[in-house]
Amino acid sequence: MYCPSCRAEFREGFFRCEDCDKTLVESLPEEPVKPGYIKLATVFTEGEIALIKSRLDDAGIDYYFHGEQAHRLAPLPFGARLMVREDFKEEAEILLGITGQP
Ligand SMILES: [Zn+2]
Repeated sequence: MYCPSCRAEFREGFFRCEDCDKTLVESLPEEPVKPGYIKLATVFTEGEIALIKSRLDDAGIDYYFHGEQAHRLAPLPFGARLMVREDFKEEAEILLGITGQP
């Protein structure tokens, strides 16, 4: 069991984190808590990651590929998602040609 607030792990039989006054959960969300609590948006799920990175670098858009860190050995990891700051989502989509606009 885990505390959703401080992410501490508890033995079976515990249902509440006394420090945080939170009900424990079976498992924590896989998304790690990022410093700064920037809202992120998924703009891409597959593709030519190196090319995308260079385009975003050129445009000065902050990004990271969710899932990439867990698969260092795979150049194009399954399930990797490109994450950008939400306020850059539209710009990134236009840049990458995935706006869905005609
Ligand atoms: Zn806690």
